[in-house]
Amino acid sequence: MTPGTPAVLDIRGVTKIYGGHGPAETTVHALRGITLRVERGDYVAIMGRSGSGKSTLMNILGCLDVPTAGRYLLDGTDVGSLQEHQLSILRNRKIGFVFQSFNLIPRMSALANVELPLAYGGAKPAERRRRALAALELVGLGDRVGHEPNELSGGQQQRVAVARALATSPSLLLADEPTGNLDTRSTEDVLDILDRVSASGRTIALITHEDEVAARAKRVLRLVDGDIVEDSRQAPVDGPPPRLLQAGGVQ
Ligand code: ADP
Ligand code: MG
Repeated sequence: MTPGTPAVLDIRGVTKIYGGHGPAETTVHALRGITLRVERGDYVAIMGRSGSGKSTLMNILGCLDVPTAGRYLLDGTDVGSLQEHQLSILRNRKIGFVFQSFNLIPRMSALANVELPLAYGGAKPAERRRRALAALELVGLGDRVGHEPNELSGGQQQRVAVARALATSPSLLLADEPTGNLDTRSTEDVLDILDRVSASGRTIALITHEDEVAARAKRVLRLVDGDIVEDSRQAPVDGPPPRLLQAGGVQ
C-alpha cells in the first residue's frame, strides 16, 4: 500500500441512535461508537445476530443513511460534508450494491439491468453495452444477456445483480446477505464469483449470519449490540481470499 493512500472505508466514532427525540425508553442505540478502517483490496464479512446493528452499519457505509455522530470517509471523501445530490453521485461512482432479494427490474433484460447504473453515471450507449457485457461475462452469464429476471434461476439473478454492482468499477462492493435466498449450489456459485472479484483486488464488505459464508472473507467483524467485539483476519489484505489461498493462489 502506497503511504498516504486513503482507506476505502474509514469510520471514526460512528453512533446511530433511533428515536432520539422521543422519550428515553423509546431510543435505540443501534451503533455505539464504531471505529473501523478497511483498506483497498480487503474482503470483510460483518456478522452478528438479528438486531446487532448490521443493517444500520451497512446503510451508513452505503451512504443510504447518516450517523447520529462520528465521521465517515469513503475513499478519502468526508461523506458528512455532502448534500443529498452529491451523495447520490458518490454512491453511484463508488459503491456497487448487492441485496438479499436481488432487486432486479422485472421485464428488463439482464443486459438492460446491468446497464442501468452505467446510464445513471452518464456512460454513452456503446460504452454501457461494452461494460455491461463484460460484467455479465465475468459472472458466467454471457449466454443469458437477453433473458429477463423471471426467465433466470435465483442464483442466476443474483449473478446478474453482482454484474450490475461491478459494471461501474466501484471502489467498494457492498453486499447484504447476498446468499440469504439461495440454495447451496447457487450460494457456492456466488461465493466463487466473489472470490475472483476479491482476487482481482476489489474491496468487498458483506453482511452474513452464516459461518460458511464468513469463512470465505479475508477478515471477519462481529457486532454485538452496536459494538464491534471481534475483528479477526483470515487472509492478508493484499493476497487472494482464503479459499483461493488454500488452492495455491489465483488461477
Ligand atoms: P441487524 O441488521 O443486525 O438485524 P439493525 O441494524 O436492523 O440490526 O437494527 C439494530 C437496532 O436498531 C435494533 O434494535 C432495531 O430494532 C433498531 N432499529 C433499526 N432500524 C430502526 C428504525 N428505523 N427505527 C428505530 N429503530 C430501528
Ligand atoms: Mg438486518
